[in-house]
Amino acid sequence: MTDTLSPPTIPESLKKAREDFPILKREVNGKPLVYLDNAASTQKPQSVIDAVTRYYSQENANIHRGVHLLSAEATAAYEAARGKLARYLNAADESEVIFTRGATESVNLIAYSFVEPLVQPGDEILITHMEHHANIVPWQLLCERTGAILKVAPIFDNGDLDIDAYLSMIGPRTKLAAAVHVSNAIGTVNPIERIIQAAKAKGVPTLIDAAQSIQHMDLDVQALDCDFLVFSGHKLFAPTGIGGLYGRRSLLDGMRPYQGGGDMIAHVSFDGTTYKEPPSRFEAGTPHIAGGIGLGVAVDYIQSIGRNVMQDYESQLIKYAANRLKNAPGVQLIGEPTHRAGAISFTMENAHPHDIGTILDTEGIAIRSGHHCCEPLMTRFDISATARVSIALYNNHEDIDALISSLAKVNALFG
Ligand code: PLP
Repeated sequence: MTDTLSPPTIPESLKKAREDFPILKREVNGKPLVYLDNAASTQKPQSVIDAVTRYYSQENANIHRGVHLLSAEATAAYEAARGKLARYLNAADESEVIFTRGATESVNLIAYSFVEPLVQPGDEILITHMEHHANIVPWQLLCERTGAILKVAPIFDNGDLDIDAYLSMIGPRTKLAAAVHVSNAIGTVNPIERIIQAAKAKGVPTLIDAAQSIQHMDLDVQALDCDFLVFSGHKLFAPTGIGGLYGRRSLLDGMRPYQGGGDMIAHVSFDGTTYKEPPSRFEAGTPHIAGGIGLGVAVDYIQSIGRNVMQDYESQLIKYAANRLKNAPGVQLIGEPTHRAGAISFTMENAHPHDIGTILDTEGIAIRSGHHCCEPLMTRFDISATARVSIALYNNHEDIDALISSLAKVNALFG
């Protein structure tokens, strides 16, 4: 890489995007906010904030159970959001989209409701070395309960998955092949198409952790042909506490409920209970109604920009950022994957990532430092933490240039 990569031009539909996010107008420590912590959580556009406010000020009522107008309106808005998500992911049917609290709850749901009844002691769950804890710990818990074995496919020093190793580890005892689509820590884009195809050829179900890809890429679950795909709303410009799970209907039909309670039952008696069909079977209790509605509006927002436009622009911006960081004095990139989206991790000689994050904060620049819920990945690179920059559609090259100038100050202090 050289230092000559020019900054990307902002496409027409993104030119006003910054104005759509009110928080980007605020100052932090007397400086204009430069928000580069989008892998942790994205900011919310005014349309999402308005939708949540409108729900609480105009429509607030519990869904599905009421005969009065407010309940009917809230139900319609919530279910419309499910439809928007189904279309966004190109699911074959709206019932294949289940609302959860987010990617973490979705993985736990699949572990309990789908995988656990299938496994015998010695059966295997396959993941990669770059998973977020959300796609590790639920499987460890399942292995403790069942005697199953967690298999971990290795990665290369540049942060790419060793795909041949992964594929060779899909064996007769594999009960699930799972993988993160885009690494939240180092930005690697994994070849999930190859994983899904190979697993399918061996009759092994697949789970894709799309927590970091859904906000950067076009995802089509029918084209991908995955069995399950998990995501979080708050990383997709929607409120916290809402997210989802795509599940192939033929598999959902055979799955046991994850939690019991109201709204997921067909009939209850003290002699026994029967359950509703998906998606209701997996949505016990009063959900995050405002969050679901907000998530639908966030999807509308992205559609109004154009997913391909967003993806093209962001891929240029992340290349620009990686190039500038690679050439910044004292900066050491952690992971230089062949395909990258969203995030870049780095360390600096003599400056701990927390020091980097703290100094940048005094300049109004928000990045993340730590293990990014990927401790095994940090161990693989023989470090305990990195500083991480992560972009969204509202970032621009000035954000990256501000980061680089401030890192020069860090380098001067610690270098
Ligand atoms: N998977 C990945 C790749 C993530 O980046 C995250 C969050 O950072 C999660 C799963 C868990 O998401 P949540 O905490 O929203 O459930």
